[in-house]
Amino acid sequence: MIRPTVARVDLNALKTNYRHLSAHVAVEESRPTTIIAVVKANAYGHGAAQVARALEDAGATTLACADIEEGAALRSAGVRAEILVFGALSVSDLDGLFDARLTPTISTPGAARAVQVAAAKYRQQLRYHLKIDTGMNRLGFRFDNLRRTLPELLASPNLDLDAVYTHFATADNPESPHFNEQRLRFERALEEVRESNRRVRGDRRENSGTGSASSAISAVASPYVHAANSAALLRDSRVWYDCVRPGLLLYGLVPPPLASTIPLTPVMTLHSRVVAVKGVRAGEGVGYGLKFNTEQPTTIAIIPAGYADGLDLRLGGRGVVLIRGRRVPIVGAVSMDMLTADVTGLDVSPGDEVVIIGSQGQERIDAREMAATIGTIPYEVLCRIGSRIERVYD
Ligand SMILES: *Cc1c(COP(=O)(O)O)cnc(C)c1O
Repeated sequence: MIRPTVARVDLNALKTNYRHLSAHVAVEESRPTTIIAVVKANAYGHGAAQVARALEDAGATTLACADIEEGAALRSAGVRAEILVFGALSVSDLDGLFDARLTPTISTPGAARAVQVAAAKYRQQLRYHLKIDTGMNRLGFRFDNLRRTLPELLASPNLDLDAVYTHFATADNPESPHFNEQRLRFERALEEVRESNRRVRGDRRENSGTGSASSAISAVASPYVHAANSAALLRDSRVWYDCVRPGLLLYGLVPPPLASTIPLTPVMTLHSRVVAVKGVRAGEGVGYGLKFNTEQPTTIAIIPAGYADGLDLRLGGRGVVLIRGRRVPIVGAVSMDMLTADVTGLDVSPGDEVVIIGSQGQERIDAREMAATIGTIPYEVLCRIGSRIERVYD
């Protein structure tokens, strides 16, 4: 059984996007930048397990997710790549880090202590990524306080610093000078981290004696570096460093208002079918609140997808869908399970294909357009495609 409204996920498009992005950033021959593929939030609504496995097929060696639970789900789905967890760990069940072999981000001193205790309990050396807050004021060790906070973290006997990263707050705003300021703060912070790391590694080696598989031996000499989300990747190659962390671009969308010449294809399209067609007389209302009033005899197509499927209420009276190769307006209120479109003058019958996101004939609507219509970002449009909608992979 499958409902008429389905999300088609084109895994070949995903792999091709991955390859184009890889080629785009791998320009430095001696030390090519590689990709940490971001698959958090069920791979932006596309289905984390299927997306992760397809990315591995395409060559991805590191994936990133939001929390330990997402990481554990990826591991259970058979993912073998390294899995980086972005989120804070202070209120998480840390066993999952070890059970699912995840790489944590350490972004607060409290998390550092908790993860050190857990790693000692498991008698493991755990590699981690250190997150620096360079001005977003969300997670991360403050860039201007590292002298106070780093020594304890770097001295943690069971924790090995593998990478250092930051996250930009305004990469998608070409006007914002804050982006460049964050980059400069990050580069100064990197110097401090490297310097402290050298010092602490020296100490750890002296303290560990010889012959044991000690932390001093496994600690990395020079942690690798990453910073760029999709917008930063497009904006400035100086922030590519060793890895970039695209999410949205992998799914074939460019973060607004930016543009790109990288040939990317949207991975997800959303399709439905007309379930009923109704003739309405002039001067009547349609749907909850009778928000749409007919001025002339009107033909309404009823489409079985509503706000419970993630289609925003604000699409009513603003959005469009594609039927018979034409853009037709969504009229009246979006209901929980249905929406209504004005198909007056078109020869529409039950069973006709409806494209909500995607193309039909010469017309197309992408998640970026839908987001602009309702005043949000394409990220939200994708992530909110409901769990009731089956993802069909091809
Ligand atoms: C979500 C996220 C990304 C990816 O962002 P996009 O804008 O989708 O490329 C990168 N880094 C971190 C830390 C994130 O949370």
